[in-house]
Amino acid sequence: MTTELEIGLYIFMLAGFLGYHIITRVPPLLHTPLMSATNAIAAISLVGSLVVAGSDYSAVPNGWVCTALGLIAVTCSATNAVGGFLITDRMLRMFRTADQRAAGRRPVELQAFGGVLAIVTAVAALLYATRPAGMAMGEYLHGHVAPEALRYCYILSAGMFVLGLKGLSSPKTARSGMGLAAFGMFVAVVGTLFHPHIVTYRWIALGFAIGAVVGGTMGFSIPMTAVPQRTAISHSLGALAACLVGVSEYFRYQGGLDRVTLTALDFEVIIGALTFTGSLIAAAKLQELLPGRPITYRGQNILSLALLSVIAVSAVYLVLTQAATAFFYVMVSLSMVFGLLLVIPIGAADMPVVIALLNSYGGLADAAMGFVLMNKIQIITGSLDGTSGFLLSLLMCRAMNRSATNVLFGAFGTVSEDEVAAAAASKGTVRNITAEETAVLFETARNVIVVPGYGMAVAQAQHAVAELGNILHERGVDAKYAIHPVAGRMPGHMNVLLAEANVPYEQLCEMEAINPYFPEADIALVVGANDVTNPAAKTNKSSPLFGMPILEVARAKSIIVLKRSMRPGFAGVDNDLYYNENCMMLFGDAKDSITRLISEMKSLL
Ligand code: NAP
Repeated sequence: MTTELEIGLYIFMLAGFLGYHIITRVPPLLHTPLMSATNAIAAISLVGSLVVAGSDYSAVPNGWVCTALGLIAVTCSATNAVGGFLITDRMLRMFRTADQRAAGRRPVELQAFGGVLAIVTAVAALLYATRPAGMAMGEYLHGHVAPEALRYCYILSAGMFVLGLKGLSSPKTARSGMGLAAFGMFVAVVGTLFHPHIVTYRWIALGFAIGAVVGGTMGFSIPMTAVPQRTAISHSLGALAACLVGVSEYFRYQGGLDRVTLTALDFEVIIGALTFTGSLIAAAKLQELLPGRPITYRGQNILSLALLSVIAVSAVYLVLTQAATAFFYVMVSLSMVFGLLLVIPIGAADMPVVIALLNSYGGLADAAMGFVLMNKIQIITGSLDGTSGFLLSLLMCRAMNRSATNVLFGAFGTVSEDEVAAAAASKGTVRNITAEETAVLFETARNVIVVPGYGMAVAQAQHAVAELGNILHERGVDAKYAIHPVAGRMPGHMNVLLAEANVPYEQLCEMEAINPYFPEADIALVVGANDVTNPAAKTNKSSPLFGMPILEVARAKSIIVLKRSMRPGFAGVDNDLYYNENCMMLFGDAKDSITRLISEMKSLL
């Protein structure tokens, strides 16, 4: 006879394979929305949290602890669900073609949201009004809804999640796909409200209300430049929810759990706890609340390894003895400390890879929660989320020509300023250009390629860049944008920023597609990009960038680089491009430089 565990494992593996095939079809253009979308879908931890927050603990000594943990878990998961879908939709709404922009679109989302809210309120009011006097709401609902209905709700939701992710394979279908996934979440959550274990809705309603307000505020107000930090915070909340649900289950059944469940539970709380603190550190580094540089100290690896060994031994001990012991909580606390130690030594610039890895861990914690509660939909979404995070981190590493080990333990980008200065001195002179001279050059250009990079995000120059592009198009110039897969600090970072500035996505060209066109370009305008244009990646075997595919800017007829100084980029190495005879540097903040350039161009008319 096939056991529940075996079925769960089959589902986990199959969902992973399915996820792999769907996610590899998502174009780099949509990688940042993908991260945010899998985040939102992983908020399915909400279904487990709802059951924990609404269960009856009257027979459990100090059962209020379980309710309190459930309440926090509901709040965290609801924040992720609401915030995740909202921000994904905000991003996807930006990806439009020139025709779609011209046609405009009625903002139907609020009406749709209002409609769903009205239906839910009406159904809730009807149920409340028809409830026999004195009967608890939970009892009434369970009597009217067969448990099978819940299972079918989950199957339906899982299908909608998979189809939703599949929608991300093209900007044309991405929004409707995410709409479907959001509806899948809605069906799963509403179905769970009829779960036979739920007897009270008070704490569920409170947690959901707080989560909806916090998530809604984040979803509507977070600027696109802060998406990396938001993603990290959302992983942190999702992992905390998984960890707390695990702790609550242990508290409730301590001493009464079988070994299989205990193994899954150990895994859930350990991964959940370390992902929680690790993601918080990642967010703090990206928000510059903590120093961005790698913080290293003597004996760091030994300490981390020793801690990990203690955690692993504790987990095995707990499973073997099945004992009810306070040592479980020590293990959870140590896992949190381990999460801190894991991320603190990594530089802020490497955070995107770390965030994608933590995304993957968060998915695994969710799947483990699914095994503990034997909830198949959590196993499916956890597996999808885990696969997506793992694939994205691999793609990023490949695009940077680095291994994951190098990112995690390599303290990359720490070449000293003296080394850079010495390298630069031996290469010759750089040519400066003013905004006025640049405007004159643009007068005769027929073919321009704009190369955005991290500096564009720092300067928030995307709107100025888009305005320049529009002016060039109005003048009949063929202007395109060259997008490197790891330009900026998130996969697809540049696509999101330019989409935010209303650049139609058909003008955004991926690296392989645009590289053959550089020799035809009269001007390659490099806006705050550095490493992704460095020819050393092709020519200098000793460069840390060697092997990384680059945008072949050096082949353009003229190159104009917008940056503030000769300081290196993320990799910490000097850029050979700046010493080319056809390369000119327009020093200054990218936004200021483009604004000056636009006004000079207008004054030349
Ligand atoms: P980059 O190599 O980090 O260079 C950014 C440049 O922008 C700097 O040289 C800086 O020079 C300039 N800059 C900063 N602020 C500016 C401002 N306000 N105005 C004008 N210029 C400004 O960036 P990139 O070319 O986009 O390359 C991305 C790097 O990040 C790659 O090495 C990639 O491997 C790495 N990375 C990317 C990802 C990802 O997913 N996208 C993930 C991890 C790592 P000044 O200081 O002189 O102005």
